[in-house]
Amino acid sequence: MLEMKNVQTFYGNIQALKGISLRIAEGEIVTLIGANGAGKTTTLMSVCGIVPPRAGEIFFEGRPIHHMAANKIVSLGICQVPEGRRIFPYLTVLENLDMGAFLRNDKAEIKRDLDYVFSLFPILAERRNQAGGTLSGGEQQMLAISRALMARPRLLLLDEPSLGLAPLVVKQIFEIIRKVNSEQKTTIFLVEQNANLALKVAHRGYVMENGQITMTDTAASLMANEQVRKAYLGI
Ligand code: ATP
Repeated sequence: MLEMKNVQTFYGNIQALKGISLRIAEGEIVTLIGANGAGKTTTLMSVCGIVPPRAGEIFFEGRPIHHMAANKIVSLGICQVPEGRRIFPYLTVLENLDMGAFLRNDKAEIKRDLDYVFSLFPILAERRNQAGGTLSGGEQQMLAISRALMARPRLLLLDEPSLGLAPLVVKQIFEIIRKVNSEQKTTIFLVEQNANLALKVAHRGYVMENGQITMTDTAASLMANEQVRKAYLGI
């Protein structure tokens, strides 16, 4: 579904991605783990066209997207939940969710998807008329994921969904990630610093260091790998 070939991305003179190649098949949950500053967020930003690569290629369902504008990439079915949530704080929960469906006009299906996200996160239904900015951190993460789901993406990019959240909320969010993948058949590319959590939910993973992919395997094999255990799992 997604293929990155030797992608190089820069911020001015700083090279954040030094030739990234990876593949994600339809239906998979693939995680990208790595330390602070490894280039994980930049990888997602390159896929969704916000920080376009300077060299290399990115294909979505066989179609080159590395020269495409971000709004065009969204319309193809790729949606990102950015780090730090970035919901619209002055809009209500319902209005935030409506924004997620901005590019759609299939009203009955939008209603169905709204009911679906409310079934995933009943607290959002209760808070539907409350301003997004007044929600707790965990509820804002739920809203950010739900807003992305309202676009009915085929590929969902999640950037550090666990960041700054209490363990119980993180557990709930990761259960939902698994559920959306199995029920909606949404393919998921998950960036996480919490490698333990990410490898538990993912089918496969890539390890990133200093702008490069250094390892890839099934999530189970990565979890059993001595190097990964020492560097990322704290075991
Ligand atoms: P974190 O987990 O801390 O978010 P990350 O693995 O997602 O880290 P990136 O945010 O992709 O890493 O950063 C990769 C490199 O690019 C880092 O060296 C970072 O300092 C640099 N970088 C990121 N954003 C910018 C920017 N807007 N301008 C300049 N350099 C940047």
